[in-house]
Amino acid sequence: MAKSLLIEGLIENDRGKLLAAPKSDLHNHSTKGCSLAWVEERTGHSFPKPPVKFNGLEGMQKWFTSYVKPYCSGYEGITMRWEGAFAEAGRNNIKRLAMNFGVEEIRLAGGMDDFRKLIEGFHIKHCPETVFEPELTYISACDIDEAADSIDEYLQTGYFKSIDVCGGENVRPFEAFLPLYRKAERYGLIKIMHVGESGTADDVRRAVEELGLDEVHHGIGAAGSKETMWFLADNHIRLNVCPSSNIMLGYAEDFKNHPISTLVDNGVEVTINTDDLLIFNSSIENEYLMLYKSGTLTADHLEEIRLRGLTGRDKI
Ligand SMILES: [Zn+2]
Repeated sequence: MAKSLLIEGLIENDRGKLLAAPKSDLHNHSTKGCSLAWVEERTGHSFPKPPVKFNGLEGMQKWFTSYVKPYCSGYEGITMRWEGAFAEAGRNNIKRLAMNFGVEEIRLAGGMDDFRKLIEGFHIKHCPETVFEPELTYISACDIDEAADSIDEYLQTGYFKSIDVCGGENVRPFEAFLPLYRKAERYGLIKIMHVGESGTADDVRRAVEELGLDEVHHGIGAAGSKETMWFLADNHIRLNVCPSSNIMLGYAEDFKNHPISTLVDNGVEVTINTDDLLIFNSSIENEYLMLYKSGTLTADHLEEIRLRGLTGRDKI
């Protein structure tokens, strides 16, 4: 049997093969899902390279709003970035793509119908073979009651496959989000949350148990507890890990010391994702290559992760 393109690409340091290997990207904030090069080509503006480390989420936001956002804001800017996210999926042979969208962004696009037409147009234009799974996301500081009351408008369309909460951890107790996750449950959505990015193993476990999460975005804090890792492994709770994001935000030291190897060694199911390509400037094939070159994961482990990302997502 022929070796997989990914394994060959890793061993031979061949970026062309890595790009050609079918892959997934299951944690991608849609408005930051395109490359800096895409925006540079369209605006004629050249951006400074992001720093090696940001000062946490706040520092990242500050960098983005200072250097990038002024050149691609408003309706025009957001649609340019959305299109670029699908173009990147086409370029990088992303065969399963989950991207999240906030309700403000849907409103900016003119409401659910216009938004959906726009997004479907980009999907068909750039990566029609890709399985696309839209995710609805709320920031952790949102008005939860208002969000739970108005969520039907978005979910009754059947368009969204998963729900997420992002934008900072431990802003309020996990159970405060129950009204939102109960609604999501009623519509059969995959339930996800950003947790264990800056937070602890205990945070990851409590969020999964209290909100009935099916998956976790990041979750690397789980590596601090064998019990939590075994709990995640036993219950097939998948962690959508984003190494460059973790490193640049200061939640992991570097690729060599990234906790993904501890998670894999303890049987936790992980995938590899971009989070915010427009900010971290590291595309999917680069994430695989960096994890291999730094000796963090073997080519076989990375192949297993690639294949996992391509298979359907399970509602637990
Ligand atoms: Zn994220």
